[in-house]
Amino acid sequence: MTSAAYQSRWASEDVDAFRRSMRQFVEKEFVPHQARWRAQHRPDRAAWEQAGRAGLLLPDVAEEYGGGGGTFAHQAVVLEELARAGVHFGCIVQSMVARYVAAYGSETQKRKWLPAMAQGRLVAAIAMTEPGAGSDLQAIRTTARREGEHYVVSGSKTFITNAALAGLVCVAVKTDPKVTGMRSISLLMMETGQLPGYRVGNALEKVGMHGQDTCELFFDDARVPVANVLGGVEGKGLAQMLEQMPYERLCIAVLAVASAEQAVALTRRHVKERTAFGGPLVELQNTRFKLAECLTEVHVARVFLDSCIQRFVAGRLDEPGTAMAKYWLTECQCRVIDECVQLHGGYGYMAEYPIARMWADSRVQRIYGGTNEIMKELIAWAL
Ligand SMILES: Cc1cc2nc3c(=O)[nH]c(=O)nc-3n(C[C@H](O)[C@H](O)[C@H](O)COP(=O)(O)OP(=O)(O)OC[C@H]3O[C@@H](n4cnc5c(N)ncnc54)[C@H](O)[C@@H]3O)c2cc1C
Repeated sequence: MTSAAYQSRWASEDVDAFRRSMRQFVEKEFVPHQARWRAQHRPDRAAWEQAGRAGLLLPDVAEEYGGGGGTFAHQAVVLEELARAGVHFGCIVQSMVARYVAAYGSETQKRKWLPAMAQGRLVAAIAMTEPGAGSDLQAIRTTARREGEHYVVSGSKTFITNAALAGLVCVAVKTDPKVTGMRSISLLMMETGQLPGYRVGNALEKVGMHGQDTCELFFDDARVPVANVLGGVEGKGLAQMLEQMPYERLCIAVLAVASAEQAVALTRRHVKERTAFGGPLVELQNTRFKLAECLTEVHVARVFLDSCIQRFVAGRLDEPGTAMAKYWLTECQCRVIDECVQLHGGYGYMAEYPIARMWADSRVQRIYGGTNEIMKELIAWAL
């Protein structure tokens, strides 16, 4: 089967129809505003509620909690359509928080938060990383000291996606800094509206992904009800993260492949239109060979990703499997996009060209969600 005739096996009529509606929505409602989102370093607040109405948020959460009632295939479609359009929108984080709530929250918490998140009335963030601790999460220093029926939270977090608009933040804390190992961390669900002691810093100046907000968070004796510790018992945070992180990593892998595919499509067009030495660039053997290499890499990536998606939907993708997908597919994305920039020449370095933005945007894929070095550790541990 040639790569052009290849069809993802996880697609179905229902998934294809969902893709058409997502493509239309993203093109019409998100793409025209990208310059403004990039300038203000975050999406418009209204974009979240529009996304909720269109069914873009929580597509794989049960309908009884306001979600789309689909599977990971629906989430993959959302991510592919955003990547194809060059839009960065924190819906992976929104879905991750929803997964934490759905898996470990009480019935009251699910009914309170999930429908509001699906509708985009409530934006969610995950706050694990700190200035002094990223890969080594056990080294976090944010504490939650119990005082009666509340925890009093102090500390700070950095690099937090969706932070500017977040009304619900899943915060990794230490309830007892003396405890080490697997039971050292708890996840606290912090409702941030009008919360004294909670402060969001300015948007951080990133190299790419300018349209998505990334900020610092500060907790200065912020009080959170004891009932908001996720799972109802202290010390379960690391186990909960280990269980849920594969979802985020597979989402990152989906973005990687979709954006590499889009980069190759843009480059094919460019090398046919641009001329040098009396003919289009595509007639130069090096251009054709480099494109042939990119097409092959992206096709291999697509087939591998599709197998991961199918196994994930069937509940058969293990942690080393998602680590492999995150590590290899994001490295592949960066290799392919870098080659595509080269084939664009100087235009590939101009921010007004989508390929240049894709190059800057893609670099972080190897860093967040667990760095690729940590992914290799996870794969190697399974040896
Ligand atoms: C744009 C962006 C968005 C983000 N969004 C969020 C978010 O929403 N929420 C959140 O909590 N965090 C977020 N992060 C943080 C991200 O998850 C961390 O940056 C990442 O986990 C790495 O942590 P660090 O930056 O502290 O790097 P470090 O942990 O200091 O790592 C530095 C280098 O050392 C390597 N290293 C560390 N440990 C090992 C090891 N054991 N073996 C081999 N190499 C190792 C790393 O791979 C890396 O190359 C975001 C980051 C960015 C840039």
